Amino acid sequence: MKKVIMTVDVEGHDGSDPVTHLIMGKTVDGTSYGIGKLMDIFDYHHIKGLFFVDIAEAWDYGEAEIATVLRYIKGRGHDCGVHIHPDHMADTNRLFLWEYTKNEQREIIKKCTDFYIKILGEKPKAFRAGKYGANRDTLDILVENGYLCDFSEFVGQRWCQIEPPVAYNKATRLSSGLLEFPVTSYKSFTFGSYCRNDKLDASMAMNEFRYLVPRLVMEDCVDPIVMFVHSFSLLDWRKTPDKPRVNRKNIKKLDMMLAIFKEESSLTFVSLDELLDQSIMSEDACETIISIKGFRSWRFFMQRACSVIKMRVETKMWNTRRRKK
Ligand SMILES: [Zn+2]
Repeated sequence: MKKVIMTVDVEGHDGSDPVTHLIMGKTVDGTSYGIGKLMDIFDYHHIKGLFFVDIAEAWDYGEAEIATVLRYIKGRGHDCGVHIHPDHMADTNRLFLWEYTKNEQREIIKKCTDFYIKILGEKPKAFRAGKYGANRDTLDILVENGYLCDFSEFVGQRWCQIEPPVAYNKATRLSSGLLEFPVTSYKSFTFGSYCRNDKLDASMAMNEFRYLVPRLVMEDCVDPIVMFVHSFSLLDWRKTPDKPRVNRKNIKKLDMMLAIFKEESSLTFVSLDELLDQSIMSEDACETIISIKGFRSWRFFMQRACSVIKMRVETKMWNTRRRKK
């Protein structure tokens, strides 16, 4: 059976109260469509999610707030992992862990790990760098801190600086003992020397997702499949981060995506512990990456470009309006 794991990046980088609105998902009408709603959906589908909480936000938005988030997820029976966007606790101009020296990274990761242990009373097992911004130093430091696995590597994404890659699309055990579960990456568009890699994400277009999943299931070089969601994935928030609204289309889409995974008879959802127990580690590098080619890749590329432009215009318009006030 091929495995799929549902991962959620829990974070908020905008507005005056990101924990309330972009993590807990409190909308303008008082309802909540953040991590609680995601857990409702996962529970309905009998899926145990792995929630990567941006611990760095504890020193930006409040330790009590981030502690509540961690306890809430664990209390509902889902798993927590450590996620770090270092700009929230260290240097606002350095967004990627690889921009910090090894000692600086050591300090940042240790501080976040200690916070996790203090709040949940256990050692974290899983890590994911904010913006996949890890390098080899990061992986060494995870071993020093007793982590069992890392989910940061994203082959083909320049924000990730684990070079050369330690894994492609398959679980790999490093000589240090650390397990790498790479972000499921595929070549979404190739034109001449230009190549773009994307990941499986709840925000992607439904037709692209539907096309990809059976291919990922069939490809031996992909295991586990790593799915991405964010704590704010069910919201419209970019224009109004303090007054988000529920995006019912996205709820329906996530539900449909989970149903598509479930329709694949050779695919099974696993929890973090099941993944750690059941992963047969790749002995040799399996470098095959699925690629979408021809007319289809152009169509998906245009779709993506349109949604990115729309998002950027909305954010920019809002920011300009805010600045004028
Ligand atoms: Zn993140």
